[in-house]
Amino acid sequence: MYTLACLMFVCLMSIIGYLRKVVAIGECGLDYDRLQFCPADVQKKYFEKQFELAHLMKLPMFLHMREAAADFCDILDRNKNRFYGGVAHSFTGSAEDCDKLLSFSNLYIGKYTCY
Ligand SMILES: [Zn+2]
Repeated sequence: MYTLACLMFVCLMSIIGYLRKVVAIGECGLDYDRLQFCPADVQKKYFEKQFELAHLMKLPMFLHMREAAADFCDILDRNKNRFYGGVAHSFTGSAEDCDKLLSFSNLYIGKYTCY
């Protein structure tokens, strides 16, 4: 039995397959500053699936990372072999977090712009 999120994932893959102007998969990532909208365990589960989608479509990712540097980097590290590059915006981490993110090839950081 499919959940709504799973059905949406399958539909999204179909839509992307028909569109030729899609240049990235997004917005993907984690936002622990907005846990009232989605718990961390659900965000982590679907962040992993977003890598699967980007890999299937061979597209870079438009990423969001706020207050979630450790989990974000762990998930990115597990999926680095199927990561085609991207940019992470809403970055709120420390200088160490920044260095860790920039250690991944083809990953760039956008400054915090969401209020
Ligand atoms: Zn965002």
